[in-house]
This record gives sequence, structure tokens and C-alpha cells, in this order.
Amino acid sequence: MSYPSKHLLAIEGLEPPHIADLLDLAESYALLNRSGKTQRDLLKGRTLINLFFEDSTRTRTSFELAGKRLGADVINMSVSTSSVNKGETLLDTASTLNAMQCDLLVIRHAQSGAPALLSQKVDAAVINAGDGTHEHPTQALLDALTIRRHKGSLQGLVVAICGDIAHSRVARSNIHLLTTMGSRVRVVGPPTLIPADAARLGVEVFHDMKAGLKDADVVMMLRLQRERMSGGLVPSAREFFRFYGLDAEKLALAKPDSIVMHPGPMNRGVEIDSAIADHPTRSVIGEQVEMGVACRMAVLDVLARRLPRNR
Ligand code: ASP
Repeated sequence: MSYPSKHLLAIEGLEPPHIADLLDLAESYALLNRSGKTQRDLLKGRTLINLFFEDSTRTRTSFELAGKRLGADVINMSVSTSSVNKGETLLDTASTLNAMQCDLLVIRHAQSGAPALLSQKVDAAVINAGDGTHEHPTQALLDALTIRRHKGSLQGLVVAICGDIAHSRVARSNIHLLTTMGSRVRVVGPPTLIPADAARLGVEVFHDMKAGLKDADVVMMLRLQRERMSGGLVPSAREFFRFYGLDAEKLALAKPDSIVMHPGPMNRGVEIDSAIADHPTRSVIGEQVEMGVACRMAVLDVLARRLPRNR
């Protein structure tokens, strides 16, 4: 296993063999999970703390499940930042976590860079579970695993990431991962929702959804992340759906065997039509959630290998 770091803070900086090894290990966990077997000795005696400063459904639950399936003691801490200075809280929290002798720390925070800051202050291996608009590395891994299972390889695929790219850490992590692994990535959305530096990331930019979807192998839809928007960057939800919502008519332009993805939470009727979200053959949204557990097991496994022996 070629993984290069004590932590998982971002996809940016990982090289193809690091990503391929993580995906191969995650694939073996996907098979193990489907077989109903467990491996509860692997993280026995290890403590995993889920520290979430922002809401989460899938990510927090799947880290919890992943930790438990590998035998770790899992503790969930939900922290409200409403009335406190965030920098101060983080550093206070770091010393508390060190005192608790936490081995693996999963953190989600509204500020980009918070997990990296924390990683300098704690002894634990730190996993970024989403920081501001920066990165969400385990989401990109689970997306890549889902794509690989359907398409065999990431090399040469055309992947259209559509919607609110500017505020999406999912988009950034996916762009880094997919371009590193040889996919051709398009970002599709209105100019107000595409970051100014998009072309620098090695992607093609489309403002016309139909042109952006043409012959795509993978269509990845993103939610409008209003909590990170200042001011009205989109007219109305109805207008947005008309131009950028994925419905059968627009999807017909992608390859006939293309798959549809969404990291959740979905806003049906805004970025995606219900019939597409629930499509029995084209939508792989449920499988993404399943692969999330497998990928998080792989990440916990790989990082735990580098930890000092159990205290
Ligand atoms: N769940 C993803 C995230 O935390 C996507 C989203 O919230 O729209 O970034």
C-alpha cells in the first residue's frame, strides 16, 4: 500500500498509485460488506472520534459504521459553533482530544483548512470529512469507486459535473481525483456558479447544459449550496431547473449507458428530476452510499497502519 501520509486532508497531491491502491482496498471492503462478514480485530482498541461542526447525514453515519465494522470504539461529537470563536474552539478541542488519546479523528468544519490546522495540533490521524468549499476527499473516493465498478476504469471517461461548482468541495475533490486518474472532466453551470479559476484545474467549462452533457459517460449533479452563497446567484429554483436541472430530455444527450450520480442531499425538482434520481438503471445514487462505507473502511485501515502500536 503506497499511501504517503499520516492524514487524509485532501485528494490534491495524491498520485495515481495512491488513489488506485485505496480504491482496490475499498473494493475488497465492498465485497466483504456484501458477504455479511466483518473484520472486527483490525481497529480493536483504537478510538475514532467523529467531530462534526456542520450537519451531515451520510458522511457521519458511514464513518461510524466503518469504524464499528473494523472494531474501533466510535464516539460522535456534534459541536455547535453558533456563539463561539471558531479558531479558539478548534485549538481547545485539539487539547481535549489529545487528552482522550484519540487515534483517528474525522472532522467536518465550515472553514476551509480547519482539518489541516487541527492535524498540526493533535496526535491522531486526521481525516477531512468536508471543509468549507475546499475538499471532501472520501466523497471523491466513493464516487470514483462507484464509477469504476460501472465503467471498469476511470481512464478516458467523460465526466460532467453539473450545478453549483463554485461552492462545492465535492466538485473540487472529484476534479482532482478524476483528472489525476485520466478522466476528462467538464464542469457545467451558470457563470455565477463556476469558479473563476476552473480552467486552471484542468477541466472544460460549459454554461450550456445540453452541450456539457453531450456524450458524457458520467453525469454528476450537485445541490445549490445556499448556505455558502452570499447574495442571489441564481434566479429562482424553477428557472434553475429549466436550464440546469437534470431531466430525461437533457439526459438523452449523454451516452445511452451513462450513469447519474449525486452526493446528497438532493433537492428534487431543483437540480434533478425525481424520475431520474430514482431511475432503476441509470441512477447509482444508492450505490454511492454503499461505497461510502467501503471507502471509509479502507481509509481508516490505511491510516491505522501508520499509527503507533496500541497504547
Ligand atoms: N454532502 C456533500 C457535502 O457535505 C454535498 C452537499 O452538501 O451538497 O459537501
